[in-house]
Amino acid sequence: MTTSRYYVTTSIPYVNGAPHLGHALELVQADVLARHRRRRGQQVRFLTGTDDNALKNVTAARAARVPTRSFVDANAAGFVALHEPLALSVDDVIRTSTDPRHAPGVRRFWERCAARGDFYRRAYTGLYCAGCEQFYAAAELAGGRCPEHGVAPEEVSEENWFFRLSRYQDELLRVLESGAVRVEPAAKRAEVLAFVRAGLRDVSVSRPAERADGWGIPVPGDPGQVVYVWWDALANYVTSLGYGGAGDDAAYRDWWAGSADRVHVIGKGIVRFHAVYWLAQLLSAGLPLPTAILVHDYLTADGAKLAKSGGPTADPSALVRRYGTDALRWWFVREVPRTGDTDFTEQRLVARHDLELANGLGNLVQRTLTLVHRRDDGVVGPPGRGALTDAADALPAAVDRALDGFDLRAATAALVAVVDLANRTIEAERPWEPGRAGTDAVLATLVHACRVIAAELEPFLPGGATRLRAQLAEGERVGRPQPSFLRLRPP
Ligand SMILES: [Zn+2]
Repeated sequence: MTTSRYYVTTSIPYVNGAPHLGHALELVQADVLARHRRRRGQQVRFLTGTDDNALKNVTAARAARVPTRSFVDANAAGFVALHEPLALSVDDVIRTSTDPRHAPGVRRFWERCAARGDFYRRAYTGLYCAGCEQFYAAAELAGGRCPEHGVAPEEVSEENWFFRLSRYQDELLRVLESGAVRVEPAAKRAEVLAFVRAGLRDVSVSRPAERADGWGIPVPGDPGQVVYVWWDALANYVTSLGYGGAGDDAAYRDWWAGSADRVHVIGKGIVRFHAVYWLAQLLSAGLPLPTAILVHDYLTADGAKLAKSGGPTADPSALVRRYGTDALRWWFVREVPRTGDTDFTEQRLVARHDLELANGLGNLVQRTLTLVHRRDDGVVGPPGRGALTDAADALPAAVDRALDGFDLRAATAALVAVVDLANRTIEAERPWEPGRAGTDAVLATLVHACRVIAAELEPFLPGGATRLRAQLAEGERVGRPQPSFLRLRPP
């Protein structure tokens, strides 16, 4: 029997600065999905990386008076340096400028679309936002300004290669409407559908090499042009698997062509690139489509928009040094709703951690194990029946349902509900009072609930779950209680 495969990716950010809390959010969300699927027995591959070839990196390096290469290297290293403090279970990292897997795959991709007759060259004048590396139609601007960056785009005239996006309108509608490619949440899917139904225009997919300062991947057969960074960047999801490379493409066949799930986790600003352009690229090249595009909204910190040159509250590594990995991951999975932007403050992070981890879950396990040791010297029997056992046994399915809808907050809410029920059970049953009937069964039921909670907690808080499971052990003996989540010092 072969187990099914689950391939999950984050977007690959521009490396024109240091990572901020929004990047950490996306990495943790994808990590939760990857860990959850591994726990459920699927084979999982979790890919992240950096988009080194963006023109924006060149501009930022110039402004910093640093050669583009060393600037990009230093910033890309800053993104990889997040993996350990965030406890990410990343399987693969791709850097689009240095990874030998990338450029050959981009060229192969280009050649296949060219063979379909999907490219043509023409002169073009448009409104270009250098921040987005994207042309905008006048109607898409907000008061003449880029909706993402708030700056007026510049008018750019050049000769480019165009991709016949218009050709794929009907096929895109079909895959999006049928759910062959799921876009979550529903509001984002509706936005994409409205955009496609309004009519797709062909898009420019190359830039003059001189404007890119030689940075980027030359267009096959036309070295005066480099491949548009978005075309280049999106291909990372398959080039990292060896697509188009000289070597064997077993990873591509296993993880793209042969995966049951091909899942992209992305921010709301790049939905169109993934749910329209990327799908059309794949259709043109004759490759399978992703199965799901899961979209998160944005974070602010103390009410301010995050930027890669952000202040201290936006630095995920500094937050982990101060409050620990569990506290930051818990804030992401508990306070970021399915839709709508979320404001981060250190007060909220501390309050959430102390309420639900130090007090709620930490106290539950500590009290339960203390009582088991006091009464039965660490020995427990099988759990009794009742509301708490039922709730604990229903938890894995509730987590599955919530994560299938990419609702991390609902999944952890289900977990917290079992913790609360267990704490109420202790208060109601008073197992610390001597001479009460049924206390052994109550304690065994509490231990069972704690064990299920600790197991289901692992995708969200791998560190905390490991500490809990070490104490809760398995079978009829439990370990000595240890504090699992210490109260944090408020900022
Ligand atoms: Zn912009």
